[in-house]
Amino acid sequence: MDAYLPKLVDSGLRVAICEQVEDPKLAKGLVKREVVEVVTPGTAISDPHVDQKSNNFLGAVVEIGETVGFSFLDHSTGEFYAGESSENDALEIMLKFSPREVIVPENLKYEEKRWYQKIRPFITEMDEWSFEFNTSKDALLSHFGTASLKGFGCEDFTVGVTAAGVISRYVEHSISGGMSHITRLTPIRNDEFMGLDDFTIRNLELFNSLSTQGTHGTLINILDKTITPGGGRLLRRRLKNPLTHRATIERRLARVTGFMDAQELRSEVRRRLSGCSDMERLVGQLNRGRATPRDLAGLRSSLDLIPILQQLLAASKSSALRDLARQFKDTSDIATRIGETIMDSPPLSISVGGVVRAGVDRELDELRSIAKGGKDWVASLERTEKKRTGIPTLKVGYNKVFGYYLEVTKVHLDKVPDTYIRKQTLVNAERFVTPELKEYEEKILNAEEKVLEIETHIFQKLRLYVLEEAARIQRNAEILNRMDLYATLAEVAMVNRYTKPTLVDEPQIRLKDSRHPVVEAILPAGEKFVPNDLYTDVDHDQIHIITGPNMAGKSTYLRQVGLIVVMAQLGSYVPAREATIGIVDRLFTRVGASDNLAGGESTFLVEMIEAANILNNATSGSLVLFDEIGRGTATFDGLSLAWAITEFLHNTAESRARTIFATHYHELTQLEEILDRVRNFNVSVKEFGDRIVFLRKIVPGPCDKSYGIHVAQMAGVPRSVILRATEILSHLSKDESLELEGTLQGDEAWNQLEMFGKQESKLRKALSELDIDGMTPLEALRKLGELKSDYGL
Ligand code: ADP
Ligand code: MG
Repeated sequence: MDAYLPKLVDSGLRVAICEQVEDPKLAKGLVKREVVEVVTPGTAISDPHVDQKSNNFLGAVVEIGETVGFSFLDHSTGEFYAGESSENDALEIMLKFSPREVIVPENLKYEEKRWYQKIRPFITEMDEWSFEFNTSKDALLSHFGTASLKGFGCEDFTVGVTAAGVISRYVEHSISGGMSHITRLTPIRNDEFMGLDDFTIRNLELFNSLSTQGTHGTLINILDKTITPGGGRLLRRRLKNPLTHRATIERRLARVTGFMDAQELRSEVRRRLSGCSDMERLVGQLNRGRATPRDLAGLRSSLDLIPILQQLLAASKSSALRDLARQFKDTSDIATRIGETIMDSPPLSISVGGVVRAGVDRELDELRSIAKGGKDWVASLERTEKKRTGIPTLKVGYNKVFGYYLEVTKVHLDKVPDTYIRKQTLVNAERFVTPELKEYEEKILNAEEKVLEIETHIFQKLRLYVLEEAARIQRNAEILNRMDLYATLAEVAMVNRYTKPTLVDEPQIRLKDSRHPVVEAILPAGEKFVPNDLYTDVDHDQIHIITGPNMAGKSTYLRQVGLIVVMAQLGSYVPAREATIGIVDRLFTRVGASDNLAGGESTFLVEMIEAANILNNATSGSLVLFDEIGRGTATFDGLSLAWAITEFLHNTAESRARTIFATHYHELTQLEEILDRVRNFNVSVKEFGDRIVFLRKIVPGPCDKSYGIHVAQMAGVPRSVILRATEILSHLSKDESLELEGTLQGDEAWNQLEMFGKQESKLRKALSELDIDGMTPLEALRKLGELKSDYGL
């Protein structure tokens, strides 16, 4: 079953598991069989080797009026959520949980839903009348044994609670252990989280690489140095759900700091955690009756670690860590009970016996000594019979069919006493039994059977006891997950030289020497990542327009800003020398269509759907990252749209989001003169004759040319094509009627003098923008140095 069930379920089948439900010994005639479980993708026990670090959610969705209610359950870990949203936010929530199976009412046209098209989960349809609030609520109240759902913070989710009740009844019905290890319902409060839509998660490559779909080159790959599977699951969940509440983020950061400041504590904690079993999943296994004696022993040694870990935290200098230490529940009684009941290293399966300790059950001990006495007698029989009969080769053996026997080789058959009864003839030996041997055999077998029966019974009792105490275990497991995560984030921050971000409520972002956490890690040896700054502020520097040749580093810069914001708000340190982040309520990242070919959605329509979503949902607390938006169509409408979108974000008070716009449309740089809060920046390059060197530095001012031909040359395009292109370019730029088009292709004649003039005017502008009065001499000196290097002087 372990081998085939996952395959059947993965191929989208609903699998019924039948078992004998009577003791075959007691049954008359045919043994009664029943369907004991129905396994689907959402209720399957995931392969522990593959999916350890991800959740496996079963979802339920119901729509009542304008409200969409959700519920998600990971049966393997016991995590259970409910919440509701508008139709508009449904996709985002569904994507955050990415359920493998969704229960819907029959009348829901799920094929039309965006979440269905994106996730394509296994669908289970249920009668509409099953989705009824009172029935659902009653099912939950009776399951949790509470009078209301207030304690869980879910009482105001009528539609969400309806969905949760449907899940609970579905699971009770289809899984034999039902919901007995599910000890709480957690509300999904979308407004506590940063809006992170599907496109943004994809474009920032949080979990999957755009080019390979693998995890190489993703943020999760950089951050996930967690020790435990539970820590890994928590990291994934938090990465999908950065927070918007400053105090909560700061509390998380303080815990990371606690581990940053205490290297020894951190490594000690990480070392200890590596010996911990996945307690959340273990409780799930217990509920399914799939936990082995060894699992329980593992649970016990993990529980034994808790006081040690708690002590470590409690002795920490950090009050944030001491506070975490106080949240542990005392589970020593559970550990003791398991430890007193089963052996320290019991066998893998209960069916071979030897699981329960001596002293637990008197009858068990007696039976064991009977069995042992019998076996000792049999063992001594070989010696005594050899002596008595004078047969040197006489052997006592055992097999499943005949039980115990005495074996005598053919040569010595004449010495066999009359009392021996022949049982079996082999090629060169005969097997015999004696009435006495049979008597002992029966004693031994009876006793052993009884032993197994009692051991199984005690193990079951222990299993149910642990399940009853599941809430405390789950609580501690959750704290261990958090410890693992904070210690990991500290470790990652230390290794990668991250700094603690400062969070503010004002809509600004200030970064000094910020880096792209992923690109810096995968740059080829010898190449150094060039850090960059950012200052954006809704009231003054709202929109940054970034120009620069292809391959200059625009997209990298844009994404690094997005990643830093996500990291900061999930409670991680960030790759920068200094970072002040004004909390972002929604982060949008859009990449122009042709940059997104790998995603399989290269149409301009999709690009515009994404843009529409931003314009309709961005607020003055949002951050919008546009990478080459408008590229998916002809030059003129693309440019016009990009222009109008920028104006809209600038002029519409409710949508006045911090915006960074990387573009190859040089025309957009004119907006700086027209709109108050638009600033031009470019990624500087240095020109050496016909070659260019990318400096990767973001500097104020527009880019003067697109260097397309330089890039082509560097790529190895034949010399004759390069020369011809240069010629055409200079024609185009002289031709009045084609001016705009020409600018777009390469904007200027390839003229060194002209280039020099441009550089000079840029330098002049940069100088005139310097606020000498507000600078210290040291800053002025540094700025001078920067200007010299930026302009290659
Ligand atoms: P653009 O969007 O301007 O075409 P990209 O952002 O895609 O350019 O950058 C191209 C490549 O340049 C990246 O893959 C990366 O290897 C390198 N790169 C970008 N930014 C930096 C930087 N700040 N320091 C070092 N290398 C960089
Ligand atoms: Mg780019």
